[in-house]
Amino acid sequence: MSHHETCGRCGGSGQISCNLCHGTGRMVQPGSYGSEIPCPECGGTGKDTCHACSGSGTVKLDD
Ligand SMILES: [Zn+2]
Ligand SMILES: [Zn+2]
Repeated sequence: MSHHETCGRCGGSGQISCNLCHGTGRMVQPGSYGSEIPCPECGGTGKDTCHACSGSGTVKLDD
């Protein structure tokens, strides 16, 4: 048997803070002084799909 449980990684939202920009959505372009670009990882949203639940917010657990 298996059941679904709220994902502990994202708390059920299905999204986590982007690892690359740490949730800011922006990052300093390498090699430039203070020039900010939208984060290429999350596209500037600051959020990334939770990999633990693939964005569903729940994880399947085997009993
Ligand atoms: Zn990002
Ligand atoms: Zn999750």
